[in-house]
Amino acid sequence: LTTVENKFEGTWRLFKLGIPVEKDPGKDFHGLSDALMQEIAKVLEFPVASLLPREAFSVIRKSFDARKMLKEPKFVYTVDMDVHRLLILEPRARDFISDLEPKVGLMEHFAKEKVSNDVISIVHDLKSNQEVVGANGFNSHSGPYLRMSNGKPKIAVVGSGPSGLFASLVLAEFGADVTLFERGQPVEQRGRDIGALVARRILELDSNFCFGEGGAGTWSDGKLVTRIGRNSGSVQAVMKSLVYFGAPKNILLNGKPHLGTDKLIPLLRNFRQHLETLGVTIKFGTRVDDLIEEGGHLTGVKVSDSRDKLKLSKQKLGYDAIVLAVGHSARDVYQMLLSHNIPVIPKEFAVGLRIEHPQELINSIQYSGLANEVEKGRGKVPVADYKVAKYVNIDTKNPSSNSVAASRSCYSFCMCPGGQVVLTSTNPEELCINGMSFSRRSSKWANAALVVTVSTKDFNDLGFQGPLAGVEFQRELEQRAAVMGGGNFVLPVQTATDFMDRRLRVTSVPPSSYRLGVKASNLHELFPGHITEALQQSILAFDQELPGFLSSDALLHGVETRTSSPIQIPRNLETYESTSVRGLYPVGEGAGYAGGIVSAAVDGMYAGFAVAKSFNLYHGDL
Ligand code: FAD
Repeated sequence: LTTVENKFEGTWRLFKLGIPVEKDPGKDFHGLSDALMQEIAKVLEFPVASLLPREAFSVIRKSFDARKMLKEPKFVYTVDMDVHRLLILEPRARDFISDLEPKVGLMEHFAKEKVSNDVISIVHDLKSNQEVVGANGFNSHSGPYLRMSNGKPKIAVVGSGPSGLFASLVLAEFGADVTLFERGQPVEQRGRDIGALVARRILELDSNFCFGEGGAGTWSDGKLVTRIGRNSGSVQAVMKSLVYFGAPKNILLNGKPHLGTDKLIPLLRNFRQHLETLGVTIKFGTRVDDLIEEGGHLTGVKVSDSRDKLKLSKQKLGYDAIVLAVGHSARDVYQMLLSHNIPVIPKEFAVGLRIEHPQELINSIQYSGLANEVEKGRGKVPVADYKVAKYVNIDTKNPSSNSVAASRSCYSFCMCPGGQVVLTSTNPEELCINGMSFSRRSSKWANAALVVTVSTKDFNDLGFQGPLAGVEFQRELEQRAAVMGGGNFVLPVQTATDFMDRRLRVTSVPPSSYRLGVKASNLHELFPGHITEALQQSILAFDQELPGFLSSDALLHGVETRTSSPIQIPRNLETYESTSVRGLYPVGEGAGYAGGIVSAAVDGMYAGFAVAKSFNLYHGDL
């Protein structure tokens, strides 16, 4: 924000305007209610709220705050006030503005911002503001390149998750000849494959909860919260693009935006149609098995039909650049990169369990008296969620060293209010899980991962070495979970109280939202001791913060391993190109540069710009 001196210009941003629940129209309303206008008048010390012109105000954020330290739960608004407009429409407001000094935390005064656009408009603006050089002069590459007869650079994007989709979008809008390869199926067929998994235990290896159109987050809660700066231009550009493709506008205003699977599926269909209109060739059911390299440059890919179990359908296809957006479950791709001596570096991630409570319990922990306002997602206040984090000190013991006290971060992750636990395995011998929900979040369950950070030292101490040590550690835990569950995708579960006591008293298992069956198991034996201990310590701490969190109604499910990528593929910070081979652009979560739908989309978007720039489709700065 650029601060302006003149109080009668620009915009005042009014923060923390709290409206008690009984006075607010409710979570689905994002406009200027009478109660909000009264609150604004109170802050401005303007005597008659009804005289304030609504046209001068706009809501830019609405959240629900039910923290225990508050006297009462409130909806909290951030509102922008266009001073110029206000004074034209209600000149008497001038006296109140002139007396007004910015109160720290309550107001900010800034010049009218250039409103950030969606990705498509950004590309169009950039194109119209410059002479597009076109593809005749590739500027940053040297060496042999395929040049297509139409003069456009030919780009392969591998993976149609958020990062691959946004990279494709930017490149196609700039006029590149894009082919998008996706090993999984389009959402229509993927839905049927997921149905077959949940109803008949048939796991399609390339079309499941991790693989297929939209990537890992399609059958998800569709949370759009991100740690990379909610108000940054890039996040706003992604959010606005999602609205362009059919997401409800309230994701731009909601403090904790989420879509839900039912909203994500039509959105992805619109995204696909837009890419096809731009001339993108989308090849579903097509797995990239290998890269073609000539003298340190990538020149193409080898692909096969992912439903051809014998892999007889191999094809070699030439490309000028390859954007690798394969997500964190493409373990075969990591292996393939190593076979080309493309470095893959192990990185820290987190492992743990998924805890599930009755949603009513979480509502009453979080909202006490207001819990009955939730009404399965139809009520006035949002279905309650939580986010907890704690550092714990644990003695790490291993055969080769003495006991070392290590501080570990334990936290809840990917909480799905009103959701269900789902199977995210990509191999029938391995069990791993995550959570999803529909837009209303109306199921009777609340689930969240409870995870502990693990690092290279942990993998090495357990005997896993090399660049894929983290992957091997994940696999080991997933295989152990599959054995504990007894096969057939049955999940090992344990009540939180039994897990704390390291024993299995409750053997008739409480109900779970997981559809493929659960089995009471000794989950406290699944992990190395220090991880179990870290989880136990953190559950105790979380129970202090959320009394009732630790209860025999809380069921822990094993195992949560794919919280983020266990590796990073090194790339140049500016050009996004691999540091070891020309023409390769590793992006998104699988490459270790994002975690979550929005950050993966942002990374893909920037990679799209970087590739476009390297092919001279655009030559300015963003
Ligand atoms: P991905 O989305 O993983 O996409 C990679 C794509 O590449 C996949 O479609 C895959 O099939 C394809 N692919 C892989 N290998 C090949 C190959 N060799 N050839 C061709 N195609 C290939 N994040 C949130 O922010 N909010 C949430 O609510 C949320 N919920 C989640 C729920 C579940 C069940 C899961 C599994 C994840 C959830 N996540 C959530 C995480 C989020 O989905 C990921 O962070 C995000 O999708 C990463 O995007 P990406 O584009 O980097 O990779």
